[in-house]
Amino acid sequence: MDDLIPFIDLGAQRAFITDEIDNAIEGVLKHGRFIMGPEIEELEKALSIHSKAENVIACSSGTDALVLALLALNIGPGSAVFIPAFTFAGTAGAAAILGATPVFVDVEEDTFNMCSKNLKAAINDVQQNSTLTASAVIAVDLFGQPADHLKIKTIAEQNNIKIIIDAAQSYGAQLQGNPSLKFGHISTTSFFPSKPLGCYGDGGAVFTDDAKLANIVRSLRIHGQTNSRYEHLRVGLNARMDTLQAAILLAKLRIFDRETEKRQQIAQIYNENLKDFVTTPVISPDRKSSWSQYTVKTKNRDEMIERLKMAKIPTAVYYPKPLNTQPAFQRFPTAPGGVPISTHLAQQVLSLPIHPYLDRASQDHIIKVISS
Ligand SMILES: *Cc1c(COP(=O)(O)O)cnc(C)c1O
Repeated sequence: MDDLIPFIDLGAQRAFITDEIDNAIEGVLKHGRFIMGPEIEELEKALSIHSKAENVIACSSGTDALVLALLALNIGPGSAVFIPAFTFAGTAGAAAILGATPVFVDVEEDTFNMCSKNLKAAINDVQQNSTLTASAVIAVDLFGQPADHLKIKTIAEQNNIKIIIDAAQSYGAQLQGNPSLKFGHISTTSFFPSKPLGCYGDGGAVFTDDAKLANIVRSLRIHGQTNSRYEHLRVGLNARMDTLQAAILLAKLRIFDRETEKRQQIAQIYNENLKDFVTTPVISPDRKSSWSQYTVKTKNRDEMIERLKMAKIPTAVYYPKPLNTQPAFQRFPTAPGGVPISTHLAQQVLSLPIHPYLDRASQDHIIKVISS
């Protein structure tokens, strides 16, 4: 049974910019520089202007972007990295695979983002009761809303720990009028197809205003090479972005701001019409979400999923389990007292279809089914 309404409609976007995408792909096929072709640098420059980050390094995925960022900051065995318990597994996996210890921090009930008070408690606990060094925090902008980066920054600075912003879901989001990824020492995003800015495969980027860190990331992306080929200064990865993906992203970036505006309008319509039936998302007044997901809370989740499914409306549960309960991460510590809010949110959240091409009739249908 096909869904009546796609959860994310990449086909509609493709129809809107068919020629631009075809020309972008054709251009790469013509010059044939599939690895580190000219579109990579072109994309990095375009993203730098768009995001106001002084340095942008395109790479192979959002997860690899996090690994590159952590490696550049020398995070590894003995490092404690503070991570929200309520996020995608990739955030914690990037730290764990380097031998660092993810420490799970609870989130805020209303914004779903890292709780700064709980972060402080977790840092104090590591400093007083373990042999680990409190090294970095990875703040995630969940569902597109910037986390409380100003408070997180104050706490990080007091404790001399680095700030990484996992903006995989929030490219285009703002905090006090600035792109949220400007608030980290180093920030990352993902261009996975369903993210706000997505390519046609895997892709990601690292953003930083620190030129030294940027150079390290550039080197790590290509086997730790220096400027001269076959000279390796550090142990690195192959974490390059394909030229084809860069060309596709350049075409999509041109319509991105318009798409973000459309998402705002669609979220607004949901907010106004659903607020009496479910708990609608809370966006702090000084923030602008990129609305990668529209996530509500409901006590009758299973029943609502079933009702929407019967009406051919797809939904998703991001995330059904907090990370500290996943088999891969159970052995890692949490903030003192555990992560009760993350645990509770995992039982209530439900994400509804949102994308820039969702028409009013489809949205009215979704609203009608939820409100009936
Ligand atoms: C999607 C996502 C990632 C991973 O990005 P990939 O490009 O799929 O590797 C990391 N963190 C968060 C919060 C994400 O949503």
